[in-house]
Amino acid sequence: MTDKIVVAGVSVDTRHWIGGRRVSSAETFPDVSPIDGRTLGEIARGGPAEAEAAVAAAREAFPGWAATSRAERARILHAIADGVEKRIEDLAIVETNDNGALLRSHRRGVMPRVAHNFRFFADWLLSLDHEDFETRGHTNHVSWDPAGPCVLITPWNAPLMLATWKVAPALAAGDTVVLKPAEWSPLTASLLADIAAEAGLPAGVLNVVQGYGAEIGDALTSHPDVRRISFTGSVPTAKRIARSAAANLTPLSLELGGKSPLLVFADADLDLAVDLAVEQYDNAGQVCLAATRFLVEETVAEEFTRRFVEKAGRLVQGDPRDEATDIGPNIHPRQLEKIDGFVQRAVADGARVVIGGHRKDGQFYAPTLLTDVAQDSEIVQEEVFGPVLTLQTFADEEEAVRLANDTRFGLAATLATGDSERAERVTAQLVAGTVWVNCFFVRDLQAPFGGSRQSGVGREGGTWSFDFYCDLKNTVTAPNGWNNH
Ligand code: NAD
Repeated sequence: MTDKIVVAGVSVDTRHWIGGRRVSSAETFPDVSPIDGRTLGEIARGGPAEAEAAVAAAREAFPGWAATSRAERARILHAIADGVEKRIEDLAIVETNDNGALLRSHRRGVMPRVAHNFRFFADWLLSLDHEDFETRGHTNHVSWDPAGPCVLITPWNAPLMLATWKVAPALAAGDTVVLKPAEWSPLTASLLADIAAEAGLPAGVLNVVQGYGAEIGDALTSHPDVRRISFTGSVPTAKRIARSAAANLTPLSLELGGKSPLLVFADADLDLAVDLAVEQYDNAGQVCLAATRFLVEETVAEEFTRRFVEKAGRLVQGDPRDEATDIGPNIHPRQLEKIDGFVQRAVADGARVVIGGHRKDGQFYAPTLLTDVAQDSEIVQEEVFGPVLTLQTFADEEEAVRLANDTRFGLAATLATGDSERAERVTAQLVAGTVWVNCFFVRDLQAPFGGSRQSGVGREGGTWSFDFYCDLKNTVTAPNGWNNH
């Protein structure tokens, strides 16, 4: 196995990063670009031994990092952000080659936000204050103690962005980390390890292990020395992880899938509603938050569909490295097959194809809209994770809310309406971690982010991340302090 590969001129180490050293595995797995099916390189294929070594490194590094002053931890997190900012171009081009998402959004949106993730949690750490209050003369002193080694497991649809939502608060909290990126997009995590080391993060504080989830996952999530597990990915994997974590009752944060609705009321600005609707094809539909179920008031459904078809028809599908491209390839041939299976079964079930409904040359799926779908059908109830949307109509607000909530998920919901009282009424009834009113995808790290029902457990963001990555401690001291007996 070669230790390094060069992707679009950027050198990436393909080995694990454990205890401040690069570590090989006897076996490797191929990392294939969704852009052209080209193998980018062979990546170290970790298993239980590498999991054990990484957790041991995190355990050893923990006391030192936990004892490091907050000011020093914040300084290092800012230095990591500086390093990310210096390498935005490298990170963007590597990520695009690895997962097929648009280069322009990696360059201008995603990677700057990766740097921001570190700055945000560094600043939050410094602003985090102890809470003190009195009970019958006794003082209560609440503190946020670092919890210990954390296992962070992430998906391929927004690899570095989602990893750093976890890495940054865990490091800020004083925890040490074992990061396991998805096997379909392993590269930017390796670059992050380089950046963190250059920024002065001590050895063992951040470890990165590569490999197939099925081979290395269980050894990480069932490990008794792991104090937190944070996972973003699919519901079936989350259930497996929950069973494995149950061995030690390790606290879990789970950010999972969705089948979120876009509710379009007749009083909405229809052009805005259509803009919001077309955005759901972003990242080739591989977005957990995507509003994949359009619920449109009967009276405007025809006009909404006409304008949607017109606008979606102008989307450019192609090489994600081109500035003009709106939709890149889907991640993997297996994912493409899964997407097509959903569509073909829906059509066999009576769904009508408004647009798309088929594969295209290369690793692309045509942006698809299906209608005449039953509420209890697979296509309405299951997450496709591709550019496949459904449209149903409703007669009134009550029916809209009923259809919106009739799902086992509860990640997000988007409303298009011109009536603020309606927005308030409907929002109050929706089961969703995030509700966007006349907008989509605006995310502030101060806000709680996560899902209800099977879309997740817990929330990420400012205070919620710190509470998760810390052991909260309340110290109660007697009225006279010491020697009062
Ligand atoms: P996945 O569950 O297949 O894999 C996610 C990660 O889990 C990968 O790193 C994988 O290697 C690892 N894994 C697999 N089996 C494991 C095991 N037994 N033990 C431990 N780890 C294991 O998900 P995916 O296909 O990579 O990602 C797509 C899913 O992620 C979708 O359902 C999507 O909605 C969800 N997602 C959710 C959010 C969110 O914030 N809610 C964000 C992005 C993606």
